[in-house]
Amino acid sequence: MSKGLEIRLASRPKGWPTQENFDVVEVEQPQPGDGELLVRNVWMSVDPAMRGRMNAGRSYVPPFEVGKALQGGAVGEVVAANAEGFQPGDFVLHYFGWRDYATFDAKHAVKVDPQVAPLSAYLYVLGMPGMTAYVGLADIAEQKEGDVVFVSGAAGAVGSLAGQIAKLRGASRVIGSAGSAEKVRYLVDELGFDAAFNYHDGPVIEQLKAAAPDGIDVYFDNVGGEHLEAAIEVLNDFGRVAECGMISQYNNAEPKPGPNNLFKIVSKRLKLQGFIVIDHGQRKDQFFAEVGGWLRDGKISYRETVVEGLRNAPEAFLGMMRGENTGKMLVKIANAG
Ligand code: NDP
Repeated sequence: MSKGLEIRLASRPKGWPTQENFDVVEVEQPQPGDGELLVRNVWMSVDPAMRGRMNAGRSYVPPFEVGKALQGGAVGEVVAANAEGFQPGDFVLHYFGWRDYATFDAKHAVKVDPQVAPLSAYLYVLGMPGMTAYVGLADIAEQKEGDVVFVSGAAGAVGSLAGQIAKLRGASRVIGSAGSAEKVRYLVDELGFDAAFNYHDGPVIEQLKAAAPDGIDVYFDNVGGEHLEAAIEVLNDFGRVAECGMISQYNNAEPKPGPNNLFKIVSKRLKLQGFIVIDHGQRKDQFFAEVGGWLRDGKISYRETVVEGLRNAPEAFLGMMRGENTGKMLVKIANAG
């Protein structure tokens, strides 16, 4: 038996979550049964989608259960394997984060190679956020060479990659918005955005118009609300929107009124499409080839904000929702090896 901690959902938040919504519990981890693996987690991801799963009611994935361990992307080392094709010492990507150890069916594990990229990269550039940025631009927004692209939440995990990928795919101008002056500098100085603004500095519509004097052709939406309304206003005719997320709405205790200019979707012949990355598994090989190649060639830069220790995972999650991360917010649970 391996003893370890797991983080459980203690109660469902109304509005902003707090530490009280989480429980840290010590558990004994069972040895793997037939077809199962016992994995010691090394890294785990905290993601905005976890906020949705803390609510009751099914969205595109079932809600977390009160009193049970939370779930989410993690990379760990196989400690004991009772499944063909796996052995102790293998590193695997899986969906049983929020715990020191996990015992689960090997069909949920994907082997990852620390020689190809650092283990944490499989939760970021070469993982779900990278794939989201790639699919959102290429398939949903159908980004073309010469497009002017606006990305909100641009200094976060998905946004930081969306901006760089847009540029690598031939955007003529990439504009980003983020929540601090330091993040704005990071976008322009380190990630190569052509322009960026802090959405706390004034109305998004005014700042976006100033940054995009010729309008925008593509909006990669991570934020919703005022950002979406401003983007609809500034989009050129036949513009396209990849609706990736609306983090400005996730902690609303009550629904808030949405953009008041939706008729412009008609008059400007815009296309807005929501998407969920897990529907796009068929693009994985293409994604690895293209984004993996850019990463190898040093054309993509990335930053991680790392919180140490599983006990601090709730704080990492809350911090990410408050904007304390630049790039991907990750929790380091243990050392590899
Ligand atoms: P991030 O790394 O971008 O972290 C969240 C960021 O959101 C914070 O750092 C903060 O940055 C920003 N934020 C928080 N509140 C607000 C607000 N009220 N207005 C504007 N910005 C805010 O997270 P991810 O990259 O993991 O996710 C980004 C978006 O992509 C989310 O909406 C998420 O739900 C979505 N997503 C969708 C997927 C899909 O399949 N459709 C898959 C993965 C993510 P700041 O300091 O700039 O405010």
